Amino acid sequence: MSEDELGTRLKAYEGRRAAVSGRGRDPVNTPMIRHWCEAMGDINPAYAGPDAIAPPTMLQAWTMGGLSGHEGRTGDYDELLTLLDEAGCTSVVATDCEQEYVRPLRPGDEITFATVIESVSDRKTTKLGTGYFVTTRTDVKAGPTLVGTHRFRILKYAPTRRKKPEQPALRPRPVVNRDNAGFWDGVERHRLLIQRCTHCATLRFPWLPGCNSCGSPDWDTVEASGEGTVYSYVVMHHPPFPAFSPPYAVALIELAEGVRMISDVVGVPYDKVRIGLPVRLEFQVYDEELVLPVFRAREEEAV
Ligand SMILES: [Zn+2]
Repeated sequence: MSEDELGTRLKAYEGRRAAVSGRGRDPVNTPMIRHWCEAMGDINPAYAGPDAIAPPTMLQAWTMGGLSGHEGRTGDYDELLTLLDEAGCTSVVATDCEQEYVRPLRPGDEITFATVIESVSDRKTTKLGTGYFVTTRTDVKAGPTLVGTHRFRILKYAPTRRKKPEQPALRPRPVVNRDNAGFWDGVERHRLLIQRCTHCATLRFPWLPGCNSCGSPDWDTVEASGEGTVYSYVVMHHPPFPAFSPPYAVALIELAEGVRMISDVVGVPYDKVRIGLPVRLEFQVYDEELVLPVFRAREEEAV
């Protein structure tokens, strides 16, 4: 199908219904308004008291079907998406939402709504890829009166193919700032330094400007013995990051001194990492500029 033909077929969906018309599951009501305001931290007095109105941005909340009651899409909307899939626009991203408020909603208002495919854009090229913006518009009514509209826009697109980098990707660099510079200086010298409050002697990791126990800003350091155990871990499968090859374990190591740090466990496959695994510190050189503390499973355990 040519680009023009596709464009014409896509445009034919404008104005068709995207979802069967629906009715709000509950009338506008004060408990839902109160929960919303608490969740949003909105203390506007207009939303409380005997003359309360609903926050305008709740518009969509009154139309939601909940977990069990989603209003069905029509065949037209699915057909449109399938047409785009077949044209290679297999990826989707929600781009924006616009709402218009015609009149305030008040407790007791009964809601009905209907959704149409308002527009399908011409073919557009974006950073993500080339495709089409599809806008649906939901008209929300209380009785016969239009109270607001909700527009939702997606981009259905064919992702841009990125060239594979010729150089293998480097591990990300640490972000060194004045609060943690001492730690990274230590790592460069193959020493793992833990901060210690000079006021109350509490150890802390990661490095922070003040003591969490007593608030004192004064500190010195102790060098970790290097002994530790795996306190917890996760196995990363997705998403892949350059320079990392999943699956791999990301471990929370409890040092013998009592503080914990995130690190890599080496010398053992990712699926042999377990809670309580004894490990010992070593420093791994990744490239000319990067040394990181990692933990090697103790030999007797690395089976
Ligand atoms: Zn302290």
